[in-house]
Formats: sequence, C-alpha cells, structure tokens
Amino acid sequence: MHNYLTPNFAFAPMMPARAEGSRVWSEDGKEYIDLLGGIAVNALGHCHPELIAALTEQAQKYWHISNYFTTQPAQQLAKKLVANSFADKVFFANSGAEANEAALKLARKWARDHFGEQKNEIIACVNSFHGRTLFTVSVGGQPKYSKDFAPLPQGITHVPFNDVQALKNAVSDKTCAIIFEPIQGESGVLPVQQDFIQAARDLATQFQAALIIDEVQTGMGRTGKLFAYEHYGVQPDILTSAKALGCGIPIGAMLTTDKFAPAFTVGSHGSTFGGNPLACAVASRAFDIINDPKTLQHVAEQGQKLQNALNQIGQETGAFDHVRGKGLLIGAVLADAYQNRAGEFVRVILEHGVLISGAGSNVLRFAPSLLLNDEDLNEAMTRVKQAILSVQAA
Ligand SMILES: *Cc1c(COP(=O)(O)O)cnc(C)c1O
Repeated sequence: MHNYLTPNFAFAPMMPARAEGSRVWSEDGKEYIDLLGGIAVNALGHCHPELIAALTEQAQKYWHISNYFTTQPAQQLAKKLVANSFADKVFFANSGAEANEAALKLARKWARDHFGEQKNEIIACVNSFHGRTLFTVSVGGQPKYSKDFAPLPQGITHVPFNDVQALKNAVSDKTCAIIFEPIQGESGVLPVQQDFIQAARDLATQFQAALIIDEVQTGMGRTGKLFAYEHYGVQPDILTSAKALGCGIPIGAMLTTDKFAPAFTVGSHGSTFGGNPLACAVASRAFDIINDPKTLQHVAEQGQKLQNALNQIGQETGAFDHVRGKGLLIGAVLADAYQNRAGEFVRVILEHGVLISGAGSNVLRFAPSLLLNDEDLNEAMTRVKQAILSVQAA
C-alpha cells in the first residue's frame, strides 16, 4: 500500500478497522487486545457508549464558535478540573505539547511581570518528554529529538531526573520554572522519587518559580488517582493534561492557580480550537467516569494484577529485569541479555495479538484502558508470554 504521509512515523504492519473496549480488529479480520490504549489516551477503552452519546449530543448543537465566546461544555469541564485539583483556573489547548507550551509561556510571563526579564530560566530533566513543538522539545532534554532543529530556544537547563543535589545547584534567582513528569513516560516509565518532587516544590517556593508538573501521560486516573501528584503530598503551581483528558478526542489543558493565572492577560496567549465544545463535552463526560472512586479503585487493582502477571512472566522467561510504574502505567524493563530489543518484542507481541509499545529501547510499556477487565488482561498475558517465548526460541 502506498503511504501518503510524511515518513516521520514507522507504522506497524496492521491497520485497524474497528475497536470496542480493549479489543481491536484489523482490516484483515484479526483480533487484538489493546494494552497500549492509544499511548495512555483511550482511558475508557474504544467506543465507550457514554462518550459516543456525549459526542453526538454536542454534535447536534454546535461544533465550534471561537474563543470570542465561552461555552457550557468548556466551563463545565474547567469547573470539574478545578473542583478536583489544586487549581483555580484552566486554559484549554489541543494537545500535550500545546498545554506545556502554555505552561512554560505562563511561567516566563509571570516571572517577567513580577521580577523582570532576567528571570527566565527553565529547569527541566534529562530524558524528559514534553512534546514536539520547538519550545517543548527543547525543554524535553533528549537532544536526539531537538538538535536537528537548531537554533533552539534559550534559557533551558537540564538536570538528571531524581538528582536532588543537581536540582539544588541549578535553581537560582533567575529560575522561572521547574518542570518534570511524575513518571517519565516516553523514556521508560520511571517514577519520580519523593525527595526530588519535595525538593522541587521547596525550591520553587523559595525562589519564586513555578513548579510545573507534566501530567499529560500520568493524569486522568492513570496511576489510580486523578492526578499522580496526589501520591506525593506535593502540589504544583501549574499542571498540564492531555492524552486521556479527551479519551481520544484531541484536547489539552493547563491548570494553574489564582496566583499565576493573571499573567495571562487578555490577548497574551490563545488558540483557535482550544476549548472547542465537541472536545470539552466528551472530556466532561469522561471526567465523571474516570473520577468515580470505583474506577480509580479498579485502576489500582488491575494495575497490581498486571504488575503481578508481568513479574510472573519475567520469572518464567528471564526476559525482564524488573517491572515498575503505578496504576495502569507500567514498564517491563528488559533483562541485560535483551538490551535495545524493545522494538523487536513489541513487534512480536503484536504478531501474537496484543498492542503495546516501547518506552525507550529497553522498556515495554503497558497503558491499557482504565476499565480493563480480567478476561482481557489474562488473555493478553497468555499471548505476551507466548510472544516472549517465540522471541527467545528464534
Ligand atoms: C505525550 C506527552 C506529551 C505530548 O503530548 P502531545 O499531545 O503529543 O503533544 C507531553 N508530555 C508528556 C508527559 C507526554 O507523555
């Protein structure tokens, strides 16, 4: 088949035709179990009937009206986000990168408004992922994604993730923001340590900088709490969400407090599609289902079962060094004998009828629907084990 898309993606040799819950069927009729969830996006599985209802209901009212007007769906979703988090105000975007772009711009503008233009430095972590715009890819700290697009935005310093001393050394009066993920998703499902997140909070407060927590991947119930920061007893000044926020409809959000929000004065930032009513109506319905204590409890339980099952497979096959993560964001770290072979494992696991992805070259990432049931989980684990055995036999 001819590929009309730019060659920056390496598509898997399977084209989906239809999907429901945690099952996907390809154009050639094969059935798959989805433990990737569209990279932590399809938090309620595929084609959830309540989301279809929310989408079609709004589709019959109006789709788009511009940000010269506010809408019920946007206000309703923002109200829910505020009522269930540290935040007082919300800015809507269309993606994680745009939510982070807004967060970084807000931090810079707030610092400039209050302290002058020299307070512009952003402290970020090595091997982070914050999106693909030039600003967010520069903040991400993975030169392989940014170096070919130089010259890059200035005023960004990277410290090793979870290195408290390096963070302390980097922060100064010139710092306007500290940003990181509670679990580094793209680079290997690596959780932040309590002392690091606490130090970041303390330093941000001490130096009048914004603590930005990127919850694009970890948010919306993924770790068993609405937002992952809740596990640590530490509150950010700015939080970004996207991925599972719309459960498959593109939407991002930047949450912040009444302290920082006023820096976004009229006209200082914007978006044509951000906060569009279709996306907000779906996200608003999704929010209620995700934020139900029963759903969050289910995430914790299924996450534990998935970790147990992967640990078992690791013991039986020797393929994994260890398994890590929280809730239903789990990484199986390949054993030394299988270094840099995540791509191969992902491919063979797909051949055996399970969708997962790599996170970096040494970790298999699992980010299934938060509603994943026992039957799909168990069947998927049987298939994953078969796939691993077949890699080892080859
Ligand atoms: C996926 C991701 C992003 C980027 O989101 P897009 O919607 O692809 O722009 C940013 N931060 C984190 C932590 C992510 O996982």
